[in-house]
Amino acid sequence: MKCLYCQQLIVLELTWKTLILPERKPLCSTCEESLIIIKGSRCFICSRPSERNKCKDCLWWEHLPERDTIQFNYSVYHYNNFMKEIISRWKYRGDGALGYIFQHVFAANFGKIRSSLPKNIVAVPIPLSEPRQLERGFNQAAMLAKFLSVRSMEILERSTSEKQSKKTRNERIQSVNPFIVEKAINKPVILVDDIYTTGTTLRHAGKVLLEQGCPFVCALTLIRG
Ligand SMILES: [Zn+2]
Ligand SMILES: [Zn+2]
Repeated sequence: MKCLYCQQLIVLELTWKTLILPERKPLCSTCEESLIIIKGSRCFICSRPSERNKCKDCLWWEHLPERDTIQFNYSVYHYNNFMKEIISRWKYRGDGALGYIFQHVFAANFGKIRSSLPKNIVAVPIPLSEPRQLERGFNQAAMLAKFLSVRSMEILERSTSEKQSKKTRNERIQSVNPFIVEKAINKPVILVDDIYTTGTTLRHAGKVLLEQGCPFVCALTLIRG
């Protein structure tokens, strides 16, 4: 078995447990240790590591009309340089299979928060615009949503292709809502995306879902940027 990222051979420790239930590890231990899972106290709303229940980003959101469009965001990993490299190869250089690196940990973290979520919750991935989806061949958020143990439904559409990453923080927050709901849903939703940076994308998506009758929206993201 080779590491999905660096191709190094993965040497598994042989124990009775691994003999009976062979472990499948996507990464070698060097790569695995370079990804940092968020632990310790975090903001209840956005998952940013914070000693306070509500971090300063979230206190600032309270003054904006979109503040309540998601109940909370739960993120799994910190955004460090190694994660940046993986994401850039996964998303921008078309190495779709790299997403499997996150399958187990992403699903397990969903499992951790599952009991605090409404029972019939549905996963809704943040969509790419059509030209970008065509260019990339896959949507990383849809891939992440399929790792979860609940139904995933691609019911949002992104109407513009402006690159969020090229905008400043204020430009992003003031930008028009790029999402439309293709199919209204009356079930609670957990939005899925690769990264929470300012939270604007997720709040925009939450807003259109609530306007179309969705009763509850929260989010699960791979990374807290
Ligand atoms: Zn490796
Ligand atoms: Zn926060």
